[in-house]
Amino acid sequence: MGRSISEGEVVMKATNVLLPLSIVTRLGVVLLLCFFAMMTEYLNYKTAYNNPRLVELASGKSVRVFYEATDAIFDFLGDPIEVAQSNGGMTWSIRVLGVPFTDPVAAISVFAKGGSWTWGFVLGLAVPVSLALIFGRVFCAYVCPASLAFYTMFRIRHVLEKWFLLPDLKLNRGFAWGVLIGGTGAAIWAGHGVWSLILPYFAVGQTLFHGIAMGTLSISLGSIVFFALLDLFFGPQFTCRYVCPTGRLLGFIGRRSLVSVRRDANRCIDQCNTCAEVCPMNVSPKLDQTVDCSLCGACLTMCPSNCLSVGNRGEK
Ligand code: SF4
Ligand code: SF4
Ligand code: SF4
Repeated sequence: MGRSISEGEVVMKATNVLLPLSIVTRLGVVLLLCFFAMMTEYLNYKTAYNNPRLVELASGKSVRVFYEATDAIFDFLGDPIEVAQSNGGMTWSIRVLGVPFTDPVAAISVFAKGGSWTWGFVLGLAVPVSLALIFGRVFCAYVCPASLAFYTMFRIRHVLEKWFLLPDLKLNRGFAWGVLIGGTGAAIWAGHGVWSLILPYFAVGQTLFHGIAMGTLSISLGSIVFFALLDLFFGPQFTCRYVCPTGRLLGFIGRRSLVSVRRDANRCIDQCNTCAEVCPMNVSPKLDQTVDCSLCGACLTMCPSNCLSVGNRGEK
């Protein structure tokens, strides 16, 4: 007769899924951004030429192949131009199947600059704000394309720490609020484009867009490298912990999220501090602190007593 699965094993299986899931979803976002950049290029050719032969004459055979393949895919999905127009943008303000997503920092910046909020822009805020209210800072672990680079830096740093003493600088978390205020001021003065240098995920989107749709290197690539070096030489996940205003804002909105990491105090080990040590966001489930938790699952996977779980904040 088969052995029944204990509650602890169920929790363990569920927690082991979170980390790979977060990598898959973030890779999906990167692919989506690449796809959107291709769509922009396609839309340009479609509206300018609407003919494969003319596309080839203008830009060469390989672009014709790209144009025809994209045309075939969109044709399958519906009217190619409508499909391309209902999907597009960047992490700043994106549409997927016509559903808009607006970055809360973008909304603040547009509002501060006295710009008008369109209904699509306002509706687009509902998704990230609701996600934060329900799940906390999950955008960071499951959506943000820049966090893949920072996660990689986190691992590289971990390996380097075996041979080198690397600094672990702690800043006040209010620093990111300062970046938000300073960035908004800079956006009022110089335009919203400054965010493509300040917001790491916007910089990733901009770099992909320039590389794919325009075949050029974006200046935003420089800021990605800068943030990656901050993480490497200043402290683990330094950018996400102390610099990125979006992370701070979403952490604030989701500070009492409905779903969070929960600890069974009866099974927690006094001498252990593993959950706090592995947390990329500097959260300590041991102290029942969950503000800024991105539900990445790292602490749940590493907890030696399996006393951590994800669920309704009020229940234990
Ligand atoms: S803190 Fe910013 S850069 Fe880091 S994962 Fe969150 S949104 Fe991305
Ligand atoms: S407490 Fe930290 S390690 Fe645990 S799920 Fe949240 S962010 Fe990840
Ligand atoms: S890792 Fe688990 S056992 Fe260790 S302190 Fe955290 S909750 Fe307690």
